[in-house]
Amino acid sequence: MSHVVVFVEHESGLPLETSQQTLTLAATLDEVCAVTVGACQVGGVARHLEIDHPLLSDYAPEAIGEALAQVVRSESPTAMLAAGTERGNEVMSHVAALLDLPLAANVTEVRPTGESWEVTRMRWGGSLLEEAALSAPVKLATVAPHSIAADPMTGVTEAEPFTPQLPESLERTRVVERVTVSEGITLTTAPVVVSGGRGVGSSEGFGILEELAGLLGGAVGCSRVVTNNGWRPHSDQVGQTGTRVAPNLYIACGISGAIQHWVGMMASKNVLAINNDPEAPMVTKADYAVIGDLHPVLEAVVDEVKRRRGL
Ligand SMILES: Cc1cc2nc3c(=O)[nH]c(=O)nc-3n(C[C@H](O)[C@H](O)[C@H](O)COP(=O)(O)OP(=O)(O)OC[C@H]3O[C@@H](n4cnc5c(N)ncnc54)[C@H](O)[C@@H]3O)c2cc1C
Repeated sequence: MSHVVVFVEHESGLPLETSQQTLTLAATLDEVCAVTVGACQVGGVARHLEIDHPLLSDYAPEAIGEALAQVVRSESPTAMLAAGTERGNEVMSHVAALLDLPLAANVTEVRPTGESWEVTRMRWGGSLLEEAALSAPVKLATVAPHSIAADPMTGVTEAEPFTPQLPESLERTRVVERVTVSEGITLTTAPVVVSGGRGVGSSEGFGILEELAGLLGGAVGCSRVVTNNGWRPHSDQVGQTGTRVAPNLYIACGISGAIQHWVGMMASKNVLAINNDPEAPMVTKADYAVIGDLHPVLEAVVDEVKRRRGL
């Protein structure tokens, strides 16, 4: 019997919304076999394989990828799908590499045409939709989060155990520690984000951005060049491979406005660019712009805010 396997991510024993969306898409293609790592209630599927292994007590992408590759070898599905979350994409990349199969990441639509699939893929943070053909003995794809509505789960399918053979060496990539993000104003909730790019010049250069963010009750963000240079942690990065923000005011200091950065802050209500290049995309797209060296400009802004507050 042909079937599609769906890797279901879950929390507290219930599928994530994005996995439920993936199950919904899979059900339009074929009979569905869900596979979970650890116990989870999954309904509305023909079968449910529950992977159990001591190496998989916490997130371990390489080992989960190997376990899923073993599911493909033993179940011979026509396709394996997962949600296009960071974890879904990471795990499925391992599956694709292990099985030497192509992977279509972040699909929004699947149209089977005989042996192959036509897929629409979301690229560049959603600013581009790509039409592609996926031709492989087992199709591997991840489903772009929130690109389709999830059908509600019906009933609960009894789980069958699946025990993979995992060498100890796969333990090398796993979660070893969880750090709680500090409470208070965060990048995603801050009404003002003061963000810096290459133009800031160094990690010390961010001092003035932090001062302004503090005065405005905001948070500091940055571009990928900044995290690549080690000036700020990745948790501060805004963009396609960072955090998406939508503050009332986004102050982009020395950031050129590459599309991968823009998609992370384009939902901001107002954008102020401070840049010495009047032609920079961030300047041409911003609501307000100051053309000049960001350091004296920010010092002047900080002085003025302090003066008006009598500080
Ligand atoms: C797959 C992929 C994913 C990516 N994801 C992200 C992402 O999530 N987030 C992200 O930010 N990028 C991302 N990037 C990188 C992105 O393409 C750009 O390279 C990056 O955003 C550029 O960073 P920047 O604007 O700081 O640097 P630059 O592009 O070098 O721009 C620096 C700007 O600072 C200005 N400047 C220089 N000195 C001063 C000064 N003294 N005063 C005022 N202005 C000054 C310059 O005129 C210029 O406009 C990604 C790229 C790829 C390929």
